[in-house]
Order: sequence, then C-alpha cells, then structure tokens
Amino acid sequence: MGEQSGRLTAEGTVYRNWIGGRPQDALSGETLDVVAPSTGAVFAKIPRSGAADVDHAVAAARTAFEGPWGRTPAVERGRILSRLAALVEAHADELSALESRDTGKPLRQGRADMAALVRYLEFYGGAADKLMGDTIPVSTGFTALTIREPHGVVGSIVPWNYPAQIFGRVAGAALATGNTLVVKPAEDAGLSLLRVAELALAAGLPPGVLNVVSGLGSEAGAALAAHPGIDFVTFTGSPEVGTLIQKAAAENRIGCTLELGGKSPQLVFADADLDAAAPVLVNAIIQNAGQTCSAGSRILVEASVRDALVERLAARFEALVAGPHDADLDLGPLISARQRARVAGFVGEAQAAGIPVLARGRIAADAPSGGFYHEPVLFGPVPPAHRLARDEVFGPVLAVIPFETEAEALALANGTDYGLVAGVWTRDGARQMRLARGIRAGQVFVNSYGAGGGVELPFGGFKKSGHGREKGFEALTEFTALKTIVLNHG
Ligand code: NAP
Ligand code: MG
Repeated sequence: MGEQSGRLTAEGTVYRNWIGGRPQDALSGETLDVVAPSTGAVFAKIPRSGAADVDHAVAAARTAFEGPWGRTPAVERGRILSRLAALVEAHADELSALESRDTGKPLRQGRADMAALVRYLEFYGGAADKLMGDTIPVSTGFTALTIREPHGVVGSIVPWNYPAQIFGRVAGAALATGNTLVVKPAEDAGLSLLRVAELALAAGLPPGVLNVVSGLGSEAGAALAAHPGIDFVTFTGSPEVGTLIQKAAAENRIGCTLELGGKSPQLVFADADLDAAAPVLVNAIIQNAGQTCSAGSRILVEASVRDALVERLAARFEALVAGPHDADLDLGPLISARQRARVAGFVGEAQAAGIPVLARGRIAADAPSGGFYHEPVLFGPVPPAHRLARDEVFGPVLAVIPFETEAEALALANGTDYGLVAGVWTRDGARQMRLARGIRAGQVFVNSYGAGGGVELPFGGFKKSGHGREKGFEALTEFTALKTIVLNHG
C-alpha cells in the first residue's frame, strides 16, 4: 500500500488520485469498487473522477510544463527517470504483488511486468539527452536546423491488461522528451500507477509533471480525451474506444497514437524446428491469459506437418492449469466477468459452428469459485472466414489454420483487418526474409516471438491495429514535434 496514495479502511484500501504531487479524492467524493479477478471480491476503492478532476489534473500538468519541468535540462530529466527506475526496483515486491492481485495475473508475470517498467524507465532515462536534430543545407549565409520539442501536456488512457508496462512505455518516452502527463488507468486495474506516481515525486519529479486520475472510461476517460488543454493523446485498448479517442483528438486538432490490438499469426512451415516452436507458440497465447494485444492467436501451419504440430500443442494445452494469481500457475483468471463472458461467447459460437476442439486445459480444482476463470482451448482447423480466425478474442483461445503453399500462408497472414505482430517459423533464409517483408505488421519475429517484450523495439500497428509507434527510440519522435529554425548570418 502507498504511504499517501492509499489508506487502509475496513472496506480495504481506499486509493486517491495523484494530482499536482498530492493525493486527492474525487471532488464528488464518489468511489468505485476494485475487484480482485482471482476471487471476485472487492479489495479496494478508487476515486470515481469526473470532468472537474480531469480539469485539475490538466491544469497541474500545464503549470508544471510552463514552470520547472520546461526548464529542466534533458540530462536531469533522464536522471530523474533513472532514479524512479531504481525506486520501482526497490519496491518491486510490493508493486508486483499489487499488480498481480489487481489484474489476476500470476505473480511471476507481475514481477516480469515490474522488471519491464524498470527497463522502460532506464532506457528512456538514458535516452533523454540523446535525441538530436539535423542541420539542413539551404543557402549561403543561412544555417537551418531542426530540434525536437515536447508536445506539451499529454493525455494517456491505459488499459487493464498491462497497466505498469503500458504506463512505462508512455511515461518513459513522454517525460524523457519533456512533456507532462495526465494518465487515466482502466477502472478494472491500475492501482500500481497511483503508487508509481507517488514514487516519482520521491525520485525528484516536480509536482504536476505526472498526474493519475482514476475513474470510468466514459467519464474521466472521455473528459481527458476531449480536454482542450491537452496537446497530444495516446491510447491502448479496443478499436471501438480508439475510434472515439481519434474523433476527440480531431475535434481538438491534436495528434494521437492508437494501439488497438491484433489477430497476430504465427506461420509454421514444414522445415521448422517444431520442438523449439511449440512452447513459444503456446506461451504467446497463454501469457496473461491471452489478454495481450500482441498475443499470437492464430497458428498457420503447413498441412504436411499439421498433425505433428497439433500433437505437440495439444499435449501442452492439456497440461495447462488456470488458477489464482498467488498460486502462480500457467495462467490466471480473466480480468472481469464481462471479459470471461466475451471469451466464453467466442468458444460457444465456435463449438456451435462445428469447429473441432483439439485440446483443453483446466481450471485448478481449488480456484476460488468467484474468480473469472476460463480454461485454455485449442481449436482447429478453423475456417479462415470464421470470427475465431479474424477477431480478437483476448483470452486463452488458439486457432489452428492449415495452408498448402507459401503464397496461401501470406494471404492468410494478411487476411484480417489487423497488423500488429507476426511470427515466422522456417529454416529457409530467403523465405524468412520474403515473409518478413511481405507480412503487413508492425513487428515480425523469425523463429521466435516477442509478445509484450522488447523495450528497445519500436512497436505499433499496420492497418487497423492503430497508428503511431511506442517503445524503442522511435517513441521519442512520437512524443515530440519537430521545429525548424533558420538563421540568416550573411
Ligand atoms: P476499452 O474500453 O477500450 O478500455 C481501454 C481504456 O479506455 C480503459 O482505460 C477504459 O476505461 C478507457 N475508455 C473506455 N471508454 C472510454 C471513452 N469513451 N473515452 C475514453 N476512454 C475510454 O477496452 P475494454 O472494454 O476494457 O476491453 C474490451 C476489448 O478491448 C477486449 O476484449 C480486447 O479485445 C480489447 N482490448 C485491447 C487491449 C490492447 O492492449 N490492445 C487492451 C484492452 C482491451 P475503463 O475501463 O475505466 O472504462
Ligand atoms: Mg481489478
């Protein structure tokens, strides 16, 4: 529990917003229950913030941008992020336990997420003073140069699947480049961000540079996205809400970054090392119970090795067990009853359509009955036109789709609206490169798969998976605007 961000009561911990370097209740005094997905029980409360709370946070961010933060040199911004990295690392046990309880993810995934948050802060702390511009030859007697300047106040709307990691990739890059931030975590999970904001003050971040306002998407989220006082907005989540964010940004005439998920394929050819591939293919859909934007949710397999691959996948699926976060099993519960109903809907529809179930994992016998568990399910062959082969399930459900030729595999890989990540498994070097170039996706992994990983690797969508890039050095470009300066010196 945070020293200031939360206070222990008979009803659990009551968390407060973090605005202007101080903990604050919602102005209305209203709260929302926070449910632990492992048990279904309420264990904390967060403020139900409204437009007035968002106004305060945006004003605090503006004051900080125009005040001390705007005058803080890049090297010092980097040092503060590095200090915050060290503080998060020092509190990693507390933070990962909180993240696991809040999201339901197994403890080791909570620890991996905090390690990733530390890496984001380290990476961007080190990068802060290494973003450089160009000089441009224009004409004799003139020198023209470009510099990258922060947008100003950035609004960030964070989903519930990886609160700390997604916060890390946004805050690391946005603060390194000199922006100030107002973050709206998801109602379903985001307690860790309130605690990290408090640690940021201790790391030396001036008050108002980082503000966290909790509440409902339709209230606090919508108020933030449409706020005339923000200069840029970044969103990760569903395509439907992404569309609303982009509309709000258009009304505001500001830029936005959208990361809207995927239906990421893994292409397995007959010459692939199936034993090496199988555990990676399973992990890519099981990690975080499949609630990962870059989950590898479609296996495209060359027909001649279909049975050999399915045998390996099915053996692993049958051994998978879902259970509470603190049991640290293969996967935890889904985030909410609503998300479980969505996943069960996909599974029921596929079964009703006669799509064979190749294997199923199970739910631990002693898993709390109130938790939101769904067992992993392996389906195949899935007709490419079926919803299960095209739409994001966001759960532990894997679709196997056979192909005969490389051309067919490429057409299937590119045959959805999405284009976030892909994996290609083959020993043929020329084919590796043909497919890496041919697949329309923001990241392509060859003989590996990086769901969620890669602090250093630029990440983002092609097609309807969104636009803009986060992670890596590229994010520094995204969170800045280019200024051109021309000097006439005769
Ligand atoms: P969502 O509604 O898109 O939620 C993402 C974030 O947007 C949350 O912070 C949410 O706040 C906020 N939000 C919701 N409505 C908003 C609005 N009108 N204006 C501004 N912000 C708003 O996603 P979801 O309903 O939780 O999940 C539904 C599906 O989206 C999932 O099944 C999955 O397919 C997809 N999804 C994808 C990702 C990803 O990483 N790409 C992440 C999450 C979900 P509240 O939650 O507090 O309302
Ligand atoms: Mg929760």
